[in-house]
Amino acid sequence: MPKENHQGIVIRPPSEAGSFLLQVTNGCSHNGCTFCVTYKFVKFSKRPFAKVREDIELAARWNPRVRRVFLCDGDAMCLPTDDLVEILDCLDSSFPRLERVGVYANARDLLGKSPEELALLSSKKLTIAYTGLESGNDEILEKVRKGATAEQMVQAVVRAQAAGIDVSVIVLLGLGSNALSRAHASDSAAAVSRMNPRYLSALTLMLLPGTPLYNQYQRGEFEIMNPVSVLQELRWFLQDVDVEGPCVFRTNHASNYLPIGGDLPRDKERMLAAIDRGLADTSILRPEHRRAL
Ligand code: SF4
Repeated sequence: MPKENHQGIVIRPPSEAGSFLLQVTNGCSHNGCTFCVTYKFVKFSKRPFAKVREDIELAARWNPRVRRVFLCDGDAMCLPTDDLVEILDCLDSSFPRLERVGVYANARDLLGKSPEELALLSSKKLTIAYTGLESGNDEILEKVRKGATAEQMVQAVVRAQAAGIDVSVIVLLGLGSNALSRAHASDSAAAVSRMNPRYLSALTLMLLPGTPLYNQYQRGEFEIMNPVSVLQELRWFLQDVDVEGPCVFRTNHASNYLPIGGDLPRDKERMLAAIDRGLADTSILRPEHRRAL
């Protein structure tokens, strides 16, 4: 893909590493979370369909065997349904082996579409959406300006999954700092349990210069949790999660101190035991200098 077609950095979920990354918007339509710097310097805009189609045609000439596509940037689900349908139809006719299209989606994007619209997108292979719950605790969500309540996020995920779109839910450890750690864990577990997502992952907060949260930290208004406290928070969260499943759970993101993974509810005890080993022997945790986004 020609580099000039992308503005800023391109972010995609780890599981989309092998996907064709197609930029259909620039930036994030919300762009307000206090911990996020990703699109801070990118003004949100929709890319013209003619440009998107050019990228698809170019990619199809290079590799017509593409099976997976990820629509960038931060919340491409915010596009009007008609626009998404136009893109999905173009992808389907250009890649005969296309299996699935993924997208980042926030609660407002998903709740802004009717069940019928979501079902239409699902029928056109948009079958996975990645949503940052971050926390199920409304006090934390308000503090970090997530732009949605836990209840709205639960409703959004339930609506998407009922329409045939699998949702991958992301929780952000450390976001409530020490004071709200227990509430963050249990409220996030409660929200996730109601969502019953197909995929679930936990990342660990990394404070990034340039973000409002970093400034709060510098003013002494926010405390970074130590690795053991973060791991304890993960343990509380996992212990409290009660999903029907099957739900693939991973903490293999580079920001985490301990990578674990398994299917919920089946592998819960095994994963809790792995966390306990990390709590008992911190030498097995990822060192700070090896953490990354
Ligand atoms: S919704 Fe996602 S991409 Fe947008 S500001 Fe929040 S964390 Fe960043």
